[in-house]
Amino acid sequence: MSGKSSAWLAILLALICFICNANSRSIQQPASGSQCGYQSCHPTKPNMLNVHLVAHTHDDVGWLKTVDQYYYGSETRIQKAGVQYIIDSVVEALLRDPEKRFIYVESAFFFKWWKEQTPKVQDAVKMLVEQGRLEFIGGAWSMNDEATTHYQSVIDQFAWGLRLLNDTFGECGRPRVGWQIDPFGHSREMASMFAQMGFDGMFFGRLDYQDKDERLMTKNAEMIWHGSANLGEQSDLFSGALYNNYQAPDGFCFDVLCSDTPIIDGKHSPDNNVKEKVDAFLDFAETQSKYYRTNNVIITMGGDFTYQAAQIYYKNLDKLIRYANERQANGSNINLLYSTPSCYLKSLHDAGITWPTKSDDFFPYASDPHAYWTGYFTSRPTLKRFERDGNHFLQVCKQLSALAPKKANEFDPHLNFMRETLGIMQHHDAITGTEKEKVALDYAKRLSVSFKACEATTRNVLNQLSVPASQQQSGKYVLEFKNCPLLNITSCPVSESNDRFSLTLYNPLGHVVSEYIRIPVSGSEYKIIDNKGVELATQVVPVPGTVNNIKHRASTAKYELVFRATNIPALGYRSYYIEKSESSRKTLKPQATPKATSSVTFIGNENIKLGFDTNGFLSEVTADGLTRLVTQDFLFYEGAVGNNAEFLNRSSGAYIFRPNENKIDFSSDHVEIEVYKGDLVEEVHQKFNDWISQVVRVYKKDSFAEFEWLVGPIPIDDNIGKEVITRFSSDIESDGVFYTDSNGREMIKRKLNHRDTWDVKINEEVAGNYYPITTKIDLEDDTARMAILTDRAQGGSSLKDGSLELMVHRRLLRDDAFGVGEALNETEYGEGLIARGKHHLFFGLSKDREGVSLKSLERLVQLEKLLPTWKFFSNVENYTAEEWRTSFTNTFSGVSLVLPKPVHLLTLEPWHENQLLVRFEHFLENGEDAMYSKPVQFNVKNVLSSFNVESMRETTLDGNAWLDETQRLQFAPDSEAAAFNTYGTFPQEADSVQLLRADKPLLEVKYSDEALPAGQLGAESNRIKREINPSLYNMYDARKSKLSDEDIDMSLYADSDSKDYIVELSPMEIRTFIVYLSEA
Ligand SMILES: [Zn+2]
Repeated sequence: MSGKSSAWLAILLALICFICNANSRSIQQPASGSQCGYQSCHPTKPNMLNVHLVAHTHDDVGWLKTVDQYYYGSETRIQKAGVQYIIDSVVEALLRDPEKRFIYVESAFFFKWWKEQTPKVQDAVKMLVEQGRLEFIGGAWSMNDEATTHYQSVIDQFAWGLRLLNDTFGECGRPRVGWQIDPFGHSREMASMFAQMGFDGMFFGRLDYQDKDERLMTKNAEMIWHGSANLGEQSDLFSGALYNNYQAPDGFCFDVLCSDTPIIDGKHSPDNNVKEKVDAFLDFAETQSKYYRTNNVIITMGGDFTYQAAQIYYKNLDKLIRYANERQANGSNINLLYSTPSCYLKSLHDAGITWPTKSDDFFPYASDPHAYWTGYFTSRPTLKRFERDGNHFLQVCKQLSALAPKKANEFDPHLNFMRETLGIMQHHDAITGTEKEKVALDYAKRLSVSFKACEATTRNVLNQLSVPASQQQSGKYVLEFKNCPLLNITSCPVSESNDRFSLTLYNPLGHVVSEYIRIPVSGSEYKIIDNKGVELATQVVPVPGTVNNIKHRASTAKYELVFRATNIPALGYRSYYIEKSESSRKTLKPQATPKATSSVTFIGNENIKLGFDTNGFLSEVTADGLTRLVTQDFLFYEGAVGNNAEFLNRSSGAYIFRPNENKIDFSSDHVEIEVYKGDLVEEVHQKFNDWISQVVRVYKKDSFAEFEWLVGPIPIDDNIGKEVITRFSSDIESDGVFYTDSNGREMIKRKLNHRDTWDVKINEEVAGNYYPITTKIDLEDDTARMAILTDRAQGGSSLKDGSLELMVHRRLLRDDAFGVGEALNETEYGEGLIARGKHHLFFGLSKDREGVSLKSLERLVQLEKLLPTWKFFSNVENYTAEEWRTSFTNTFSGVSLVLPKPVHLLTLEPWHENQLLVRFEHFLENGEDAMYSKPVQFNVKNVLSSFNVESMRETTLDGNAWLDETQRLQFAPDSEAAAFNTYGTFPQEADSVQLLRADKPLLEVKYSDEALPAGQLGAESNRIKREINPSLYNMYDARKSKLSDEDIDMSLYADSDSKDYIVELSPMEIRTFIVYLSEA
């Protein structure tokens, strides 16, 4: 793209994205005289039951309609929902009456609305925010999913949403409470992140129906959640399960979208229903209060896209409050008030009581005995992978924007657009795959445009860094630095059609890396020269026939050119010159061994060896001196089909995984294989059937194996939906125990048919044991250990000892009746969708391994696979190798000192003017490695020496509040005795607990009538003993070093000026800083 067209793109993006005129204000103090925060809460009455009415709207950032269709309110036939009208109408209602309150959650919508307002309206809204009448809650770009999202992306989308709130409203715009009312289950890492962002608490809607029943019956629905097994009290978060999901009580949805009767108070009206309505509402509130601990209850008055005509809801709420509270004169002890979740939380805090604790998570989520929401862990596998690519390139774009010697005006709009797009992708109906097909395509299109925007920036910066100033011409780039977005199907026009091209590998990690690189090429002879003029060893491997046969894959690549790129600088790049040649001594030709073998076929190296039996299946693995039986196969479940009229007839769908009778089919009993061995990589190409194939490879220097699978189009001509898994089986005696990651960070222990906090009854043996795998699943016994890394979120489990399975793709023919209204039947070019991806298999000693532990090796590879080098291609037809080498700067590093091994430079991005936002993360857990699971220290000034660092200051995890000024509300845990006695019995009056509505609101399917008699699901406490920490906690205690004396590197302290820049990290700790740069 020329400079001209990138300027055009900048203008376009300036129109679409918000706040491009980066406000140079940083973290703000409250405006003087502002009344926001807890002081703006309406007073409660100490001797009464206080009913906190929370007027709210749940605005999905895309689901049945696209983001823009929701915002503008188009496509009303699909859903009557227009977010612009909601905010217009709520603001008007709030301005009319200072008593009223409203909360708003999704920054993606709010700021779209905000930039369309006149300064007068903006001033009025600022006033509402400063008086606490309009309160932001959650505040991220979207209400992110918690199962399929990666922590890096969650942190990013909070940082951006909270920053715009801070830039616009200052301290009063800062949310205090997390509001995860709709995501389908809740991760422990999310709780930890909220805590580290300084949130006081979080409320959520969806948890397993049995867990909810149990928690309500034992008054444990509000709790202190220990968000981390490593970080201690700084990760504790007060969390509350809402009583009625996020709906209004039945009969009290007064919204224009609802059909409930309004409150009719005409004195002589024959329809006067004041008594009846108030009776019913107070009854609801009283019932709810029996399940909670204080004399406060929260009642959500709203739902999906409610308040498009706010006065209708508010008028009826006014009447409800007035008539209910009038009864206080006659002895009623119930007090209704306009409130917000944070005001409710403050009341809970001020009650001064103790709370139960929790240390596991809320997965999987089941809404009834046959509806386990574990299908969405895998739904839309290609969108899930595309999102991960998006995160990868966003980090590259951030870093290069920060490293640019000269900033261009369009950098900020480009970067903001990609930040916002990735924020949208985290939404609980985006990355989850639970949106309509058309909406999924809209997400993919947005993401693709954002790649182009950031590509314009990276091209500019890389040209600045590699082309000498004398050769740079304004408005024209010397080198192309193109992305090849179709590398996932081994296709790249630049490398296929040019006889000479350069490859620039940009390394976004704070470590020097070496990596095996694969490039699609049309010929079989190539010469690769590095920046020093050294010719590298190469190998070519044929593109598998099954990849060549992908329809609509317009590629001439017959081979993949493989080489090992070594010592790629941290936060920098190294470039290579690649030339097609008649013959090169260094290119190794493929050697296919005979297809039919009568003995075991081996591939591998001295670290790991894989054996394949005569049927072509993996049969054994040798590593760390252990040889064990390990098999791998593809199988599929048949998706259950039903009319969804009752629980038993539930279909498998976009949300729900429900295999038909838990039956599983093998994809084949014989695998065709081809074997290719060279000096760099050894590969087995497997073909299982017409729609499943795989390449298993081991690179020369790796100690793990790569499984690149290709699945689809999943056939449906037998009218059976299929859910395809890969299964690795071993003889490891795992005893029903396995481990899964939480959003890509800490591992959580799982046990078959078990939940940590209640005695679960699982009615769907397979689906009810599925967990979200964002990056890793593993199991072990005393001797051996097996772990698999994924390249995107997938559902997974261990249903048999020693066996791990991951669902890679699913194609279904029925809707599961949770609102999306479509079968998950993805197609492209008129055929079923094809998905391709990678698993990395680790195998070896579970303990006492020589050198580093397998766990720490897995952590390092996990990072290198998440953020590998980014490939930029340029046509260099006009340069000989020598000309190329002497004309350009072919290597660069943005950091001068590499970080200690267990430290990941999680974030480096331009923030406000002359500021960087930087995060450092210790990426090992306690006990994962004898050497690396230790606290470490380093000096930030040395690391960032290529920047003119003036000073730095630590913030909360989101980067928008000073850590030393942040206070959180503290909650005290139950004493051990209280946990078992005080709340273990339940008052007699409660006959039943309503099984709450499982469906999305405003849709036809309703299960709210299902009630279970008290006790059926555990009215007697069968609660499992929890660990209780009796001490109060405060995350902001002055930091004490956890390093032992001999581990402190005194040289870091040598220079007194540098002391302020020393950072210490304990296992799993993330620290966030604003770094001030001196003005250029
Ligand atoms: Zn939602």
